[in-house]
Amino acid sequence: MADITDVIVIGAGFAGLTSARELTAKGHTVRILEARDRIAGRTWTEHRMGRNLELGGTWVHWVQPHVWAEMTRYGIRPVGGPEFEKAYWWAGGQRHEGPAERILQIIDEPNRRLLSGTRELVPLPYQPLANPAVKDADQDSLSDRIDALGLDNEQRQLLRTFWSLNFNGKLDEAAFTQALRWCSAASGDWMLMFEACATYKVEGGTVALAEAILADAGAELELDTVVTKVEQDEDGVRVTTADGRTHAARAVVVTLPLNALDTVEFSPALSAGKQAAAARGQAGRGAKLWIKVRGRWDRFVAFGAEDWPLHFIQSEYFDEDSTTLVAFGPDGHAVDVEDTAAVQAVLEQLIPGIEVLEVTGHNWVDDGFSRSTWPMHYTGYLSEHLEEMQRPEGRLFLAGSDYASGWGGFIDGAIESGFTAARAVHALLT
Ligand SMILES: Cc1cc2nc3c(=O)[nH]c(=O)nc-3n(C[C@H](O)[C@H](O)[C@H](O)COP(=O)(O)OP(=O)(O)OC[C@H]3O[C@@H](n4cnc5c(N)ncnc54)[C@H](O)[C@@H]3O)c2cc1C
Repeated sequence: MADITDVIVIGAGFAGLTSARELTAKGHTVRILEARDRIAGRTWTEHRMGRNLELGGTWVHWVQPHVWAEMTRYGIRPVGGPEFEKAYWWAGGQRHEGPAERILQIIDEPNRRLLSGTRELVPLPYQPLANPAVKDADQDSLSDRIDALGLDNEQRQLLRTFWSLNFNGKLDEAAFTQALRWCSAASGDWMLMFEACATYKVEGGTVALAEAILADAGAELELDTVVTKVEQDEDGVRVTTADGRTHAARAVVVTLPLNALDTVEFSPALSAGKQAAAARGQAGRGAKLWIKVRGRWDRFVAFGAEDWPLHFIQSEYFDEDSTTLVAFGPDGHAVDVEDTAAVQAVLEQLIPGIEVLEVTGHNWVDDGFSRSTWPMHYTGYLSEHLEEMQRPEGRLFLAGSDYASGWGGFIDGAIESGFTAARAVHALLT
């Protein structure tokens, strides 16, 4: 057995890095055990197609206070994306095109009605259960709520694609409250919410921010170290890794995504509530692809039907002879991140004359260390599980975007949750 560390942090994503930094700043010794050969978890800045691309989390905004404060702390600036001129969309079994604002106009009134209860039901985004009435709303699926609006075909189809995009998943069991929580965090303004989701990137890539936090942490980091078991008793914690080693600590912060939580054995077992939440998981199980197409295209956005393998595409980088697009789909198994022909077949239904040259991405759903993309919860998670996931068990603390109060699903939520866990661990250790 190795010597005793004050705290073991499992996972070097934004939640783990933040809690490690906060704990070392309070004088605790911290060892981070990370399964992958790199830090940053579900964010991943990689050089592909001739430039640094974000294969995972990308966009940040000043309405997301935790990530913004970290950028300020390390002098990392935001980088704006393109302003869109043109739109393509699918409705009524055929393609349409028009100015980019047209899509926002079509979904503005329905979105306002859908989200009209936001400020009442979730008045305080960082206390999402403050109004007990939100518990009833948490039983409703977003799919049912959209269909109850009585929209015409075009509005309904576009709104469903818009929310399936936000969920990176299917809408049938998607919690209506997740939409309320996002909108509440954007002060009740759905357009500001949309801007926050896909406009400003991190200078130098998300990896630059992750590295800055790590460099500040003074923690010991072990990469390629897969945790298999976490045991605790009143004296301490023992963490076993796949290479057969055991690490001792006084407390452990576990940052595994909800969909991967059951890959580790806990002794004593996690509470029944935590296990039930992990068994169901969360809905964000879709795809994100980067696509290089021939020629210099307009700055466009495109919305397909909600069940297409790729249902949202936007042009992101513009070179002399080619344009690089980013695209999302609701089901990570419905599209191969390297299948150029399949991507061509989807895109040409919407955008005449487009020619796909190259495709890349990462299959986060089949990646055993995430089994999901960004956390978007099912009906009942907020009311039945969130508080339980946030409740420490003895010397064990969960942290991560999946368990955040505010911008759950975002880098911001991971950082928020890392702070919260570090505060609780510090209280235990002192
Ligand atoms: C495709 C995609 C697009 C996204 N877009 C955005 C966006 O634009 N803006 C935004 O804010 N957010 C976005 N997100 C979400 C954001 O990236 C995540 O919410 C956030 O990075 C999660 O951080 P985390 O620390 O909670 O979890 P993770 O980053 O998943 O960190 C958990 C860590 O635990 C490690 N781990 C897992 N199992 C083990 C084990 N057994 N032993 C040891 N280590 C283990 C993992 O390797 C990982 O490093 C996106 C995510 C994806 C996948």
